[in-house]
Amino acid sequence: MSVTVGIPRALLYYYYYPQWKTFFDRLGVKTVVSRETTRGILEKGLKSTVDEACLPVKLAVGHVLDLKDRVDYIFLPRIVSTARREYICPKFLGFPDMVRNNIDNLPPLIDNNMDLYRKGSSLYNLFYAVGRQFTRNPARIYMAYKASLESLHSHYRDMEAGRLPVEDGDKPNYGNQGQDGGVHDVTIAVIGHPYNIYDRYISMNMIKRLREYGANVVTADHLPDDVFRREAGKLPKQLFWTLNQRMVGAAFYYFDHPDVDGLIHVASFGCGPDSMTGELIERYARQGSRKPLLNLTIDEHTGEAGMITRLEAFMDMVRWRRQLDDVAATL
Ligand code: SF4
Repeated sequence: MSVTVGIPRALLYYYYYPQWKTFFDRLGVKTVVSRETTRGILEKGLKSTVDEACLPVKLAVGHVLDLKDRVDYIFLPRIVSTARREYICPKFLGFPDMVRNNIDNLPPLIDNNMDLYRKGSSLYNLFYAVGRQFTRNPARIYMAYKASLESLHSHYRDMEAGRLPVEDGDKPNYGNQGQDGGVHDVTIAVIGHPYNIYDRYISMNMIKRLREYGANVVTADHLPDDVFRREAGKLPKQLFWTLNQRMVGAAFYYFDHPDVDGLIHVASFGCGPDSMTGELIERYARQGSRKPLLNLTIDEHTGEAGMITRLEAFMDMVRWRRQLDDVAATL
């Protein structure tokens, strides 16, 4: 029987899962993804973390608990930096330690560093360190890494072409979360962390709901790196949190894009970087944009009914504003 490695369906799973899966597959290691988020998974995470942790971290702990008795190892890379001279949030950095300190009877954690901050640092360092735990053959690790890079690039190309990550079981790719073929008369940009907006339970199916209300939905992940970095470069100082730079840059781009009718910023309660991102996006909106902006903060107590009411009111506002603009254009 082959060794099994558990991958929590949380945090940067939405960006890196195709790469991680391909890498382990090529080494002959079976991967198991935690189940889709449910109230039960979230409750387990809430009970095993400190109150001060943000919702995505509490949820990620719940996903680790969902895996712990079913796998031989759990893959929790210590993600320090995913781009040069930028950092991911410090809560990612301490996540493996938080898990070790809060959960008993864990299988071994694979928590090697992913740190691309310095010039000359390489993603290969992470994969080599991980691969050595399963094989002594460096050529095999290298070939697995090369194949995993191809999966990663293909995943990014897919997202830039309009596909979004969905929770689609244990498939190497995430399946198509494309438009549903109905009539969509407005376009809404949903700006938020991937682990908030693509997790159906946490987002209360926001993307699907918006589509049912007749909206095309775009996110930061539809934009190539150079676009959101260029847009975020309008700020007087570079944001060194990669995910928030991505969100701010995407918001600036979509505010100025004629095809986008409104923006929704989704923030996590208890997230420092998100409060700053929300403020930057609001300021930009106030500097002359006529596009409606909805700020939604989600936490473990957010109720579905309240969120639906706010989304419906927002859609009414977007359509009303659009009609006014159409009339103004004919005068
Ligand atoms: S960026 Fe915010 S939401 Fe994400 S892990 Fe850090 S504190 Fe939590």
